[in-house]
Amino acid sequence: MPYSKIHINPISPEPTSGSVLVIYTGGTLGMVYETKGRQLVPFNFDQIIERVPEISRLDFAITFLSLPEPIDSSNMNPAIWIELAEIIGSNYDQFDSFVILHGTDTMAYTASALSYLLENLNKPVILTGAQLPIGVARSDARENVITALELAAARNEQGNPIISEVCIYFNSNLLRGNRSKKKESSDFNAFHSENYPALATAGVRIEYNLPYIKPFLPGVELVVHKSLNTQVAFLKMFPGISPEVVQAVMNIPDLRGVVLETFGAGNATTDIWFLSTISRAIKNQIVIFNVSQCDGGRVAQGHYQTSKYLQQAGVVSGSDITPEAAITKMMYVFAIESDYQNCVEMLGKPLRGEMSI
Ligand code: ASP
Repeated sequence: MPYSKIHINPISPEPTSGSVLVIYTGGTLGMVYETKGRQLVPFNFDQIIERVPEISRLDFAITFLSLPEPIDSSNMNPAIWIELAEIIGSNYDQFDSFVILHGTDTMAYTASALSYLLENLNKPVILTGAQLPIGVARSDARENVITALELAAARNEQGNPIISEVCIYFNSNLLRGNRSKKKESSDFNAFHSENYPALATAGVRIEYNLPYIKPFLPGVELVVHKSLNTQVAFLKMFPGISPEVVQAVMNIPDLRGVVLETFGAGNATTDIWFLSTISRAIKNQIVIFNVSQCDGGRVAQGHYQTSKYLQQAGVVSGSDITPEAAITKMMYVFAIESDYQNCVEMLGKPLRGEMSI
C-alpha cells in the first residue's frame, strides 16, 4: 500500500519560516466519528484542514505523510522504528523539522528508539498524540498538534532550530523523548519525565529551559542506523520470584541482554540461587542492565548490600534511565556491537542524554 502525502502551504502573505514533515503513524489522535453511526474510524488526512483549521494559519509549509497502514501503537515494532528513521533520513535535507503523530501507549519507546537510531541529529523530531480522538469536541489533539508544529518550527536568533533532538510534546510540556514515560491512561497530562526537567512549557508563551536542551551542533552529519537487535528481555523483580521464572528468562536461546527491573536504588534479593543464576548468565556473556522500578531517583549499586552483590557479579548500572530507554538502548547497542565488554561500556554511559552519569 502506498504512503499518502498532502502538502499544506501557509496562506499568510509573510515569508515562511521553514518546512515541517508530519508523519502519521496512527493512535487515538487520528480517529473521528463516521457521519452515520457513532463509531470511531481512522481519520482521512485529506480532511486535516477541516478538522484542525488552525493549521492553515501557521507560517510554514507542512507536508503530511501517512504510513500505509496506521496502527494502534500497541502494535509498534522495531521494523517500523527503522522505517521512521529511514523516512527522516531520506527527507532530512528537504525539511527543517519533523513531527510524528503516534499513539500514546508506546510513544516513549518509539521516542527512545529514534533517539539512538538518529545519531548526530541536528533538527527537531517531535512526537505527539492525544488522549481523545481529534473528532471529539473536547479532544486534546488540536493543542498538542499545533504546539508540536510550532516547537518544531521554532528558530533562535541565529536561525538554528531551538530543539535539535527527539522529544515528546504533550499537554503543555516538551520532554526529552528518551527520558519520558506514559504515566496516565486517562488524564490529559499523560507523560512525565521524572529524572530530567521539561525542555519547554507552553503557556501563553513558550518558555524554553535552554540549559537542559541539547545544543545545536553545526557541521555534524546525520547517521541513520538501520538495525536493532531484539534478543533482549525484561525481568521484573518481585518478592517471591521463583528460580523457575529467573532461569526461564536467562535460558532464552541466543539472549544477549536483560533489563533487570530492581527495587529502589537498584536492589534485589540476595538469595544464593538468584545471585548464582545472575553470575552464570554474565559468564555466558548475557549483559544484565540494572534499572529501578521507581520512576524517580537512580540505581546506586553498592549502596546497599542487596545491590553490592549485583555489582560484584558484573551487572551494569542503568543509573536513572527509564525501562523504555533501557530496552531500546540494548536493541541499538547489540545491533552495532558484538563484543560483550564494548556493549557493557556503551550501556553504562549516556549515548543520547538518556541517563545521568
Ligand atoms: N491505544 C492507543 C495507541 O497507543 C492509545 C492512544 O493513542 O492514546 O495507539
